Amino acid sequence: MAKHRFFGRTDPARVASANAVAVIGLGRFGQSLALELMKDGAEVLGIDAREEVVQSLNGQLTHVVAADATQEQVLRQLSIPEFDRVVIAIGSDVQASILVTSLLLRFSIPQIWAKAVSDAHGLILHQLGIPHVVYPEKDMGRRVAHIVRGSMQDFIEIDSDFAMVKTEVHTGFVGIRLGDSEIRRKHGVTVTSVKHPGEHWEAASADTVLRAGDTILVTGPTKQAERFSRMG
Ligand code: ATP
Repeated sequence: MAKHRFFGRTDPARVASANAVAVIGLGRFGQSLALELMKDGAEVLGIDAREEVVQSLNGQLTHVVAADATQEQVLRQLSIPEFDRVVIAIGSDVQASILVTSLLLRFSIPQIWAKAVSDAHGLILHQLGIPHVVYPEKDMGRRVAHIVRGSMQDFIEIDSDFAMVKTEVHTGFVGIRLGDSEIRRKHGVTVTSVKHPGEHWEAASADTVLRAGDTILVTGPTKQAERFSRMG
């Protein structure tokens, strides 16, 4: 019997429903991810080697277990092979990350995401066959760089050269119907949604008339979306 402590409402084997996600490693990234999944209505099994972390999350996740995830026997006892979606949120301990990755690949889990702390770590995970490698620090650094450089409120890179930007509307477009604004033709971007001050977000149409203080969501090639936001 592998040594682990288990906290939860039901048998962990029953967590492995279509709506379930296992999060291995509950550092800052893993915890934030697991809690957001819970908010979203998913059933979450969290695993971490540190007992104090597991205790602090007791009651906040569907199940949380103190265990060493590099042990195949432990993962089997927790029914990890039954899960469709597993996130490996172990970073600094690259050896543990790789060991867990190879076990999950052996279990043929359909969807595996893994956190990488460096390009070399990410490359190894890719080469092992992990399709979804995430680089939280690197990605957030790049995102903040774009926000700082443009005068935008938020920036999401959809692809390497395509972005979505949240920005305040430039005074030059106030009072103009989007259909008459020529924003797409002149600036190469599309206004997809608008939030008038004090109101909810709504989809933008050709008939939307922008008002002073509006916040807009704009999509387009990264450079053009940035340039457009700097006009604001
Ligand atoms: P973060 O930035 O998310 O806080 P970190 O890089 O500082 O993460 P990591 O080394 O990535 O820290 O570890 C994340 C979590 O994974 C830690 O809480 C750690 O206890 C846990 N962890 C590390 N190795 C194992 C393991 N073999 N089994 C289970 N949990 C582990």
